[in-house]
Amino acid sequence: MSAYADRLEVLAAEAADRCTGCGKCFEVCPTARESGLDVAGAKDRVGELLALTRGAAPAGGLQKWLNACDGSARCSAACPEEINVRQWVTIAKMKALEATRPRTIGATNAANRFRHMAQAVRLLASMQLPSETLQRILAPAERRTADVLFYTGCNVLRTPHIVLNVMDILDALELDFDVVGGAAHCCGVYQFQEADLPTYERMGHRTFQRFGRSGASKVLTWCPTCTKNFDELEKDVEPPSFDLGHVSEFLVSNLDALKSRFRPDQPRRRVVIHEHLGIGATLQSIAALLKAVPGLELVELPQDSGFSYACGGQAAKFKDREAAIHRALAEGVVAAGADTIVTMYHSCHRAFAGAEALYPLRVVNFTDVIAEALGRGGHPDYYQLYKKGGAMDEAVAAAARFLQDNGVKLEPGSLQSLTADIFNETSLGAGREAFATAFTALARQS
Ligand code: SF4
Ligand code: SF4
Repeated sequence: MSAYADRLEVLAAEAADRCTGCGKCFEVCPTARESGLDVAGAKDRVGELLALTRGAAPAGGLQKWLNACDGSARCSAACPEEINVRQWVTIAKMKALEATRPRTIGATNAANRFRHMAQAVRLLASMQLPSETLQRILAPAERRTADVLFYTGCNVLRTPHIVLNVMDILDALELDFDVVGGAAHCCGVYQFQEADLPTYERMGHRTFQRFGRSGASKVLTWCPTCTKNFDELEKDVEPPSFDLGHVSEFLVSNLDALKSRFRPDQPRRRVVIHEHLGIGATLQSIAALLKAVPGLELVELPQDSGFSYACGGQAAKFKDREAAIHRALAEGVVAAGADTIVTMYHSCHRAFAGAEALYPLRVVNFTDVIAEALGRGGHPDYYQLYKKGGAMDEAVAAAARFLQDNGVKLEPGSLQSLTADIFNETSLGAGREAFATAFTALARQS
């Protein structure tokens, strides 16, 4: 067993030692209920979690609980002992998988999931970004020299205008920063989820160590999954030489500097945040940032914010529930007389990107609002054009230009897989036909 795996064992054992077995974590778990597990079995399920941690084989009820987990962190928030139950459950799930199937199966699953993600991200980023910007993001972390490292992760590069917005905001703050991301700097989530720990150590664990080798004193994360993984599976395993936190928390710590740079002539709008709990103080930070924007009224709407820490990912196991959450929010926004849904993360942005085609509202990411309030931003959201349907001329022309600049070809086969990737996600929108038709024509030309 590696030193890293040993340390995970210690973290889980420490949680088990502090646990009183009260069952409150299981009682509040939204996905345990969603998967049909009875709340009356709370103490039994926690007893099974304790037993697994101390070396027993995983019991059936426990496995169902672990497999349902989507990382909402409601368990951690409910624990009277302040145990990081989500972290414990994450480690336990990995242990249960290790105990019940050969590692090669998990390694194959993880490799396939990673390959699929990396292909889609590479293609979408190459369709939407100039080569110079893409190369700047993909360059190796350890070669960076700035004091602040903005780490994008992989999947936000499907909606790269968000990355450009954050870069604009950090520029407006006159900060010396580098930006780093892409699949070569993956947080290793697939490998950890599939219990392929040796490969995880060569990917996610190594990415974290590469941040340290860059000499940066501060690493700003974007992706909620990377933030959660690095917080729970790296920072707690070995304290890093740098400070780590989500970019929204960093921005709110610079709120006075941002406010002094906001332009007064902002559009009047009534906005609702599509909320998620579970990743530090991101929701509170984004709300504080939005409230400071001139002309913007933040409308608070009751919503199902505790079901998952972000859209997609592990929450996509419950497509009907996700779809119901999205529909209810869009309808609630319209009924409340608000005009804009603000997304927190990139996967949520993808989920809502097509809603403008179905409801009388706008969908923007919070970084769009902040960058524009600073007189910057305004980067085209091509992904939203894909999802909305309608005329694709602008999106196709941009893709043709950027693909050539990046030396990437759009083959008919990869387009088919990309179309499925974009439109099979739980999301609002109506654009599959329009996207497939327009981009098939582009693929034939290349
Ligand atoms: S993180 Fe959320 S889904 Fe996972 S066990 Fe805890 S409450 Fe349940
Ligand atoms: S809520 Fe905390 S103390 Fe209670 S069973 Fe869960 S982990 Fe143990």
